[in-house]
Amino acid sequence: MGTKIKKDDTVKVVCGKDKGKTGKVVKVDAENGRIIIQGVNIVKKAQKPKSQNDKGGIISIEAAMDISNVKVICKKCGPTRIGYKIDGKEKTRICKKCGDTI
Ligand SMILES: [Zn+2]
Repeated sequence: MGTKIKKDDTVKVVCGKDKGKTGKVVKVDAENGRIIIQGVNIVKKAQKPKSQNDKGGIISIEAAMDISNVKVICKKCGPTRIGYKIDGKEKTRICKKCGDTI
């Protein structure tokens, strides 16, 4: 399964508990269809102490979520679907609504 979303894209969450949030893509796991977005789907995790003086604690991290729950944002249209424009050997990602390069 391929994905059209890339690292550093700005995406909007369209379903789930973080619906409506937007953020920058930190990591895409295309193989498993998972994505990590900055500031979205935050979970608290217990961290083990790393040394004797470190007590460990609770840290907040971004958990991966299903890639189908997010949409790329077009500057003009907002959340949109991505299409491709083939120009010779160049493949450009475009907004399916307005045709602008994303
Ligand atoms: Zn657009």
